Amino acid sequence: MSRSSPPPHILAVPYPAQGHVIPLMELSLCLANHGFRVTFVNTEFNHKRVVNALAEKKFIGDQIHLVWIPDGLQPWEDRNELGKLSEAILEVMPGKLEELINKLQDDKITCVIADESMGWALEVADRLKIRRVAFWPAAAAMLALKLCVPKLIDDGIIENDGTIIKKQMIQLSPTMPSMNTVNFPWACFDELTTQKTLFYYMQRNNRTTKLANWVICNSAIELEPPAFTTLAPEIIPIGPLLASSRLGSTAGYFWPQDSTCLKWLDQQLPQSVIYVAFGSFTVLEQTQFQELALGLELSNRPFLWVVRPDAVNDQANDSYPQEGYLDRIGTRGQLVGWAPQQKVLSHPSIACFLSHCGWNSTLEGLSNGVPFLSWPYFADQFFNESYVCDVWKEGLKFNRNESGIITQVEIKDKVEQVLGDYRFKARALQMKEMVMRSVTEGGNSHMNFNNFIKWMKA
Ligand code: UDP
Repeated sequence: MSRSSPPPHILAVPYPAQGHVIPLMELSLCLANHGFRVTFVNTEFNHKRVVNALAEKKFIGDQIHLVWIPDGLQPWEDRNELGKLSEAILEVMPGKLEELINKLQDDKITCVIADESMGWALEVADRLKIRRVAFWPAAAAMLALKLCVPKLIDDGIIENDGTIIKKQMIQLSPTMPSMNTVNFPWACFDELTTQKTLFYYMQRNNRTTKLANWVICNSAIELEPPAFTTLAPEIIPIGPLLASSRLGSTAGYFWPQDSTCLKWLDQQLPQSVIYVAFGSFTVLEQTQFQELALGLELSNRPFLWVVRPDAVNDQANDSYPQEGYLDRIGTRGQLVGWAPQQKVLSHPSIACFLSHCGWNSTLEGLSNGVPFLSWPYFADQFFNESYVCDVWKEGLKFNRNESGIITQVEIKDKVEQVLGDYRFKARALQMKEMVMRSVTEGGNSHMNFNNFIKWMKA
């Protein structure tokens, strides 16, 4: 970039889900710190939520411009029906993105960075002769799994259409944790048609990823060496992004953050609070939710619990937790609809993180040296749990009873075990140090990120 040329102008296209928008926004903030301008393209539905959640604090700055295009669904349609959403995206978004890029003729886009799951955006960029980057916001092992699909078919693990031939544990490489075939990302939906639609969508993304000049990933080589060295050396780790921009602001949330809990945390003893959060998507059955409430009560420790308005699967729409609970808990427990999670996890009062192990939550707990109690719900979260508990050894898993429930006594016991054994905290601090080294001067992710920036500026 010469002194007189304008800063590069990036077009960032996240997949329309909370766990995808936040990390791409983190990447955009890092790029803005390096002088890039970013046009961040949400779907119309998510753009409204992000702007609404930002209303109180306008901290995105001049370098990041938020825009939207439609996702192809009607306003009232359910965005959690991922099969339907994927079909609508493919039908409508490519044309709309092309129109948007053409409208920006006076302020030309120099590079498109698209979530790997929005591979169609790389096709648009390729057609318009714009440089292309695929961004993978989850564990590299999960992208490696998708890229291994032809082998999975050859080995008789799945059919050509992605259908799981039998429920079994498989390993992508002998040094990686095993994964259950029923938790393959496309296979964890009840309906076979949804499974097939998502499999087709993912296969299509596998092909379009080949159009990318770079495939970057929000992970670090130190966290999952076999995935980067043996399975998919073409994926370049540049994370954890939040750790590299630790003091910066974050944005991209779908719900306004309730920051009152930070004041409550200030009043708690150091390393005393259990933080409980299941990300943006998890829904618990009523009995399970009740058992969790009672388990936290039984633990007799302070806790901060994120209960989204849609956190419980209950058609009758009863209020949760049940009557009398909050009175019994008093000031020992705090419930919020949506927390400023990164700030919470870096607070000195936090003792452990009871988490669904979404990749972002996993990285956030890890980067803050917080031990885990893992409660996966869906898809890759089971694999992330194995990283946390079996490989990194900084947390414990819950056992379920014969009805599939994690009981209140199990919750209380595991809280006691993880907090009663200092080795979990010691290990969590070691892991934190390791990822912080990776994202600071001389570290692997830092070097990769710098090389990436150089290429973008060239
Ligand atoms: N999050 C948050 N406040 C909450 C709960 C979650 O800000 O109360 C953020 C969290 O910090 C993370 C993201 O939402 O960055 C959730 O992503 P993750 O991959 O962990 O889970 P998903 O929502 O995709 O299941």
